[in-house]
Amino acid sequence: MRLGRLAPLFASICSVAALAQSPKGPDWAALQDETMRHYQAVLRLDTRNPPGNEHIVAEYVKQVLDKEGIPSQIVGSDMNRPNLIARLKGNGKKRPLLIMGHSDVVTVDEAKWKFPPFSATRDGGYVYGRGTIDDKDNLTASMMTIILLKRLSVPLDRDVIFVTESGEEGSSGIGIGYLVKDHFPEIDAEYCLAEGGGVTRIGGQVKYATVQTLEKIPRGIELVARGISGHGSIPLKSNAIVHLAGAVAKIGDWRPDIRFNETTGTYFRKLAAISPPDVAKYYRDVLSTDPKTRKAADDWLFENEPRHSSMLRTSVSPNIFQGGYRSNVIPSEAKATLDVRALPDEDAARFLEQVKRVVNDPAVDVHFTGQNERQAGPDARLDSEAYKALEAAALKVYNTQTLPTMSTGATDMAQLRVKGVQCFGIGPATDFEDPPKGFGAHSDQERLLESEVHRFVRFNWEVIYDLAHAR
Ligand SMILES: [Zn+2]
Repeated sequence: MRLGRLAPLFASICSVAALAQSPKGPDWAALQDETMRHYQAVLRLDTRNPPGNEHIVAEYVKQVLDKEGIPSQIVGSDMNRPNLIARLKGNGKKRPLLIMGHSDVVTVDEAKWKFPPFSATRDGGYVYGRGTIDDKDNLTASMMTIILLKRLSVPLDRDVIFVTESGEEGSSGIGIGYLVKDHFPEIDAEYCLAEGGGVTRIGGQVKYATVQTLEKIPRGIELVARGISGHGSIPLKSNAIVHLAGAVAKIGDWRPDIRFNETTGTYFRKLAAISPPDVAKYYRDVLSTDPKTRKAADDWLFENEPRHSSMLRTSVSPNIFQGGYRSNVIPSEAKATLDVRALPDEDAARFLEQVKRVVNDPAVDVHFTGQNERQAGPDARLDSEAYKALEAAALKVYNTQTLPTMSTGATDMAQLRVKGVQCFGIGPATDFEDPPKGFGAHSDQERLLESEVHRFVRFNWEVIYDLAHAR
């Protein structure tokens, strides 16, 4: 996104009546040392995946919760890489709320780090370390929240379940996959809060919050061209590489139809309302019912904001192209793999037929690859109690408005959405300028402002208290 061009946002501060307020709320200033101690402690636990070793985080969290009298269990198919499930009981008037943070982090290139990646060094107002924004921030904030609910003896209308799941970074079978398969009754909930959203700051000012309410579904499609093999000195009309190249070129020129859902429609409308006029025009035009206006905006987005272009449609990207083994042999087969990211409501069979029509070559076979395990689940509703609580908390804690987003990539929430859990991705405020400087998630370095660690704990508290306290 070209967020750098967003004008300052003058959020209209409507009065939020009935915003949940605990009679005796947490003493935020007094909690800062404790929050920072836990945050640094989990950051110092080296859970780079592979190999993961997430048991060290599960054990740390368990001993913290034990001291607070919060029951928890460590479960896993690989006890070096287990998950933790904790539960605070409510009166059962409402279905549970699940809050999650994954305990593994991606690997590091230690030479690129100014401070050692598992040192959690505090410098210039930041905390540096692998996992600071992915995902030990969510893990710490949700752990602090469940601790506070217990300590303040907050009566609850629903159970609050806290999970630290392992293996999110590329081995979710031992984490969320295992939990959904073997422990679903213990994590089943009406709502789930996990990573995937955040608050965008530009020039040190908060501009808006995003909440991930939906995600695209990865699908793979294979194109296999078959022809006659032969001597390279005698070109053949049936050359498989020529047929495959033609098919891939047609796919490259094709952009599937635009289709909005509740999340993306709301996102583009709200983004238009807070963006400077020269860019806002494109966000508005792409929503137009006039095909010419929409097409012009779509072309601009594809060239300038490809992530936004992908949010508009089921996207297709040819990412593997294989064929041939000797310069003097015409191969009888050539193969390409397309990375398809489907809109959640996409009809897979119908889409495959569309791809076949675009390719339009009987020499090229078009089929799904075998690796399409994730299914689509329903999106989280924007008229739900949970979304309203998230909007209210963003206004209260960050004085900003919320945009719902659909992520183009997949998350651990996919497995829960399939089971009917309404999932919302949240995150702390980070600087828009930070990722290009190499401080983003999965970057050579990673960091988070100390002040934003504390503000994120408060945001979690406001949302979770609002959704769970007894009324
Ligand atoms: Zn993550």
